[in-house]
Amino acid sequence: MIPAAFRYERPVTIHEAIELLGQPEAKALAGGQSLLPLLRLRMAEPELLVDLQDIPELRGMRHDLDQIWVGAFVRHVELAESAPWRVLREAAEATGDRQVRRLGTIGGATAHADPAGDLPAALLALHAVVEAVGPAGRREIPIDRFILGPLTTELAPDEVLTGLRLPQPKSGTGSSYRKLRQKASGFALAGVGAMVRIEAGRCVEVGIGVTGVGLQPYAAEAAEGRLVGTPLGDADVEAALEALLEGVDVQEDAYASADYRAKMCRLCATQALESARAEALG
Ligand SMILES: Cc1cc2nc3c(=O)[nH]c(=O)nc-3n(C[C@H](O)[C@H](O)[C@H](O)COP(=O)(O)OP(=O)(O)OC[C@H]3O[C@@H](n4cnc5c(N)ncnc54)[C@H](O)[C@@H]3O)c2cc1C
Repeated sequence: MIPAAFRYERPVTIHEAIELLGQPEAKALAGGQSLLPLLRLRMAEPELLVDLQDIPELRGMRHDLDQIWVGAFVRHVELAESAPWRVLREAAEATGDRQVRRLGTIGGATAHADPAGDLPAALLALHAVVEAVGPAGRREIPIDRFILGPLTTELAPDEVLTGLRLPQPKSGTGSSYRKLRQKASGFALAGVGAMVRIEAGRCVEVGIGVTGVGLQPYAAEAAEGRLVGTPLGDADVEAALEALLEGVDVQEDAYASADYRAKMCRLCATQALESARAEALG
């Protein structure tokens, strides 16, 4: 279907973008890999598209002492090649096909909050913080509070997601992403990002982000809590993963029963944690 008519602007500063997004029925456009299909299906009919591609402040990655800032316009292909965390590289590489990865951006994938999005699971595992700028200024929102539901986030219509803050990988850390693809679309039937930090043989920090299973990507906090203080042995992981789906309404569809999806989710989590542990132990 041909999209409904819209106006199109290409601001060159964040300030200009915020002003344009303040107009009625305006919508930000990044790589277009989620938004353009919605326009073509007429599931979204904005009056104004605000294309963010000419704003230099949204690009690049910066390394501070203990943090990394990833600009919203960093594309999946750049993440797959050079993200500082393996979980992010693997999640970007697992996203869509080459064309999607060349155009899609981390900001777009985060703002879109697809229930089966790969990057949100990696960002949840890393306890990333979303940086947004709007008319009232800049604010930072932890990723687990940013994603509110399917395709729903904390972002106001006139806010620009400017970047994401991640921790710097310390010694003893490892991370990984595992995904079972849904055959028709390639999206995650289940996907799990894991990050661990091991000190003196014990897990001192852990993050588990789950996608494709419930109504939104989420942090498996109950399972995380059970892993801290353990040596991350097989029995520890198995016991902790009992809590992986706690409080989650596991979805059932034409591709998978809820039971199969839950089993595949546990398998992805086990493999992601094993791989993260192996990296952490060098
Ligand atoms: C064929 C195909 C296969 C795909 N497969 C997968 C897959 O396997 N896994 C997966 O996770 N995803 C997949 N995707 C989606 C893809 O990852 C998208 O790139 C991503 O979800 C959105 O990023 P984008 O930059 O294209 O955003 P856009 O489509 O431009 O925007 C998405 C949404 O975010 C908003 N937005 C974008 N940037 C900002 C910003 N900086 N500030 C505020 N709002 C913003 C837009 O207004 C829009 O609502 C697929 C897409 C296609 C077309």
